[in-house]
Amino acid sequence: SHDDALLEVSNIEVIYNHVILVLKGVSLTVPKGGITALLGGNGAGKTTTLKAISNLLHSERGEVTKGQIRYRGERVAELNPSELVKRGVIQVMEGRHCFEHLTVEENLLTGAYTRTDGRAAVQKDLEMVYDYFPRLRERRRSQAGYTSGGEQQMTAIGRALMSRPETILLDEPSMGLAPQLVEEIFGIVKSLNENEGVSFLIAEQNTNVALRYAHHGYILESGRVVMDGPAAELRENPDVKEFYLGMA
Ligand code: ATP
Repeated sequence: SHDDALLEVSNIEVIYNHVILVLKGVSLTVPKGGITALLGGNGAGKTTTLKAISNLLHSERGEVTKGQIRYRGERVAELNPSELVKRGVIQVMEGRHCFEHLTVEENLLTGAYTRTDGRAAVQKDLEMVYDYFPRLRERRRSQAGYTSGGEQQMTAIGRALMSRPETILLDEPSMGLAPQLVEEIFGIVKSLNENEGVSFLIAEQNTNVALRYAHHGYILESGRVVMDGPAAELRENPDVKEFYLGMA
């Protein structure tokens, strides 16, 4: 247990369909004000870990069968996603998930649904989102389904920001995007972290990018954390270099 821990995942096991053991005792900590990367190859269990935290496994016949998940010291395993949002934790799912028939701005506004602090405050945050994502300001009247993959990823992150989160769980933000856009999105994540104090847990297969922007990394293999450490140390680790950064 850490003093600055916001999110603490302790030794969780996840089983799908009552039989398939996918997480075999995963523990990780997301400190306040940090960017934490959850790394690993296809099928290692990154998405499952994020869904376990946000209590999104039921619809996939998945279940946390062991271990604990705490946010600010409080057990959150029984909270539904919108209760979790009210406590400051929001997930941006893999594959963006915009409402394709709504405009970019309408999508952003749907992110404010749990708020009770009034129109002016929401409007102010919309401007804040547009300041971080100038492309979204340009595209605000476009139907989201017709915007590019990168713009949809930005819309998904912007929508999450509209809930005024303390922590964002970001699933594979680089997926399907050109390298330059990936850098742009990670750069914005970094400035949100530094300027707004948002903490991030980012699931990523792109180890190279994630370890350049994160403070701390965890590496998952077959449902277990096999290594973790400060991002700068992981970048220099010979095994990480060989197996995840592609340089022996
Ligand atoms: P990816 O980047 O491909 O999403 P990941 O590290 O996020 O990989 P998960 O999606 O968490 O991995 O999947 C971990 C394992 O759980 C995989 O072997 C996958 O086949 C299995 N799995 C995922 N969802 C289900 C499900 N609904 N039912 C059964 N098995 C599942």
